[in-house]
Amino acid sequence: MILTSGTATASPKTQKFLAHEHQLLIDGHWVPATTGKSFDVVNPADGTTIASVAEGGQEDINKAVAAARKAFESGPWHTMTASERGKLIWKLADLMDQHIEEFAEIESLDNGKPKAVAQAADVPLAIDLFRYMAGWATKIEGTTIPISVPYLSGAEFHSYTLREPVGVVGQIIPWNFPLLMAAWKLGPALATGCTIVLKVAEETPLSALRLGQLIQEAGFPPGVINIITGFGETAGAALSAHPDVDKIAFTGSTEVGKLIVKAAGDTNLKKVTLELGGKSPNVILPDADLPSAIAGAANAIFFNHGQCCCAGSRLFVHRSQFDQVVEGVAEEAKKIKLGPGMHPDSGMGPMVSQIQQDRVCGYLEAGLHEGATAVVGGKKHEGAGYFVEPTVLVDTHPQMKVIQEEIFGPVVAAVPFDDIEEVVATANNSIYGLAAAVWSKDISKAHRIAKRLKAGTVWVNCYNVFDASLPFGGYKQSGWGREMGHEAIDLYTQTKAVTVQLA
Ligand code: NAD
Repeated sequence: MILTSGTATASPKTQKFLAHEHQLLIDGHWVPATTGKSFDVVNPADGTTIASVAEGGQEDINKAVAAARKAFESGPWHTMTASERGKLIWKLADLMDQHIEEFAEIESLDNGKPKAVAQAADVPLAIDLFRYMAGWATKIEGTTIPISVPYLSGAEFHSYTLREPVGVVGQIIPWNFPLLMAAWKLGPALATGCTIVLKVAEETPLSALRLGQLIQEAGFPPGVINIITGFGETAGAALSAHPDVDKIAFTGSTEVGKLIVKAAGDTNLKKVTLELGGKSPNVILPDADLPSAIAGAANAIFFNHGQCCCAGSRLFVHRSQFDQVVEGVAEEAKKIKLGPGMHPDSGMGPMVSQIQQDRVCGYLEAGLHEGATAVVGGKKHEGAGYFVEPTVLVDTHPQMKVIQEEIFGPVVAAVPFDDIEEVVATANNSIYGLAAAVWSKDISKAHRIAKRLKAGTVWVNCYNVFDASLPFGGYKQSGWGREMGHEAIDLYTQTKAVTVQLA
């Protein structure tokens, strides 16, 4: 069902923000792109233009990196205590708290997701991430290490380590959770004292620009956080190849992740962390609580329209219950009301862009052509907006593109299995290893399977549970390093070993 009428209009605050001139945040100032160019931002629910933003390029990246370098090496950020840093991050979270609904509306209009979802999940999670990371600012510690150097017998030493910020960090984020991805990146970088050039996704630049206004209001010194709107091939490529950037943190496709690694290798061997694609297996064992497993399997793929790197896009069900589970997930799909994210009854919005709609439909066509069957869905919705029907595919085989490749849309392939050895092997048969889930009432069995699944996150009897304290990242080609938790802090710091000879 497509909801076409009753679209709630955005609040006056949001409308005022959208009408604003959207520039780049460089060195504490909002400035136009050096070229003077801008590009349109489109509401994916109806294809209308909702804003125009500056199109940053190479020269703007150069300026932003220079500002970040200056802020890192000198000035108030450089000398600020960890406690003061933590308070600033917390203040930013408090300011965000005052604008939750506005952020949710911006996110909904820009990305397409239901406003209620952004309000309940994206925005509070982003705020919580900043608060969690604010707490870390004062807890970044080295260690003292007793040493005994064989060729210097009798000499006494005092050795310790310092954990120091990596430096100037380039961050490139995608469009699926625009505000939350900005928070995942900015939070640990700020807590550790790095300075930042954030390149946001061209499809969804708006919530980061609103965040930039609050960053200014919170009082972060100039140059600490620079925000560039622009395209990947220009601004993103310039940032990842910049010789004065110490680290790049990237979230997006595995294909672009490889380009980032190459750019880093071809220039200054900057450190790289990557959060890439997935093809996550969701395994329902015969002893699972079926109603929760069915609801969980639907949530695993349909949350955020399947535009989640950890989407449960391969659903493995024991053959004895296969038909029942497929029917249950298909029923859940039928209940989802497609509509503009701003419509209060909308359960699923459009794909983020026409390109993404075409990409998802291309996978559907390929799958159906190769012999798969759509139990429900299977095509886009004709008309305005970039909607794709929630889809459950069966009759797939392991070589199909819909089984091998990340679709990044509301499309799950359900596959029957006969025994645990088989399902563990099939679940692990992927170039990706971001997330996985197991549903079973036998918790010991679930633990044993969790251990064998090659994924950075394994959920047991749940799906899509995120917390700022839990490390998130991929095995295999799903990425390098982890976001959130103390592992993110580790990856924005580097260790210095200091050894003092005692007189
Ligand atoms: P993408 O990887 O092209 O874009 C992600 C970010 O990288 C954007 O900010 C983009 O501007 C930037 N970028 C693009 N080319 C770049 C380059 N050469 N150098 C530096 N930065 C560059 O993702 P997409 O095209 O928007 O989506 C394509 C596919 O990627 C999706 O269908 C999905 O499979 C996957 N994806 C994954 C995630 C994730 O969270 N892992 C997020 C978005 C997309």
